[in-house]
Amino acid sequence: MHAFWMITLVFGIVSSIIAYGKGRNSLGWFLAGSFLGPFALIVAFLNPVEREGMFATCPACREVVREAAMRCHHCQSGLDADYSR
Ligand SMILES: [Zn+2]
Repeated sequence: MHAFWMITLVFGIVSSIIAYGKGRNSLGWFLAGSFLGPFALIVAFLNPVEREGMFATCPACREVVREAAMRCHHCQSGLDADYSR
C-alpha cells in the first residue's frame, strides 16, 4: 500500500509543478494530480484553456485573469483592457 501513496504523491507534485510553471493554481492541481494521477498530468500538459487571447496576467498581483475583465477578481485593482498588448 506504500507504493500506491508514493505514486499518488509523485503525480500530485508533478502536476502542481507544471501548473505553477503555467501560472495556475498549484494546490488545485496537486489535488487533481493526486486523485486523477496520469489523467490530470495529461490535461496539465495539454493546457488548452489559458492560452493567449483568453487570459492575461494581472499587472498588480500577477494572478491569471480574463483578458476582457475590467477589474482583477484577486486583488480588485482596475485593469486596463489594453495592458497586455
Ligand atoms: Zn490582481
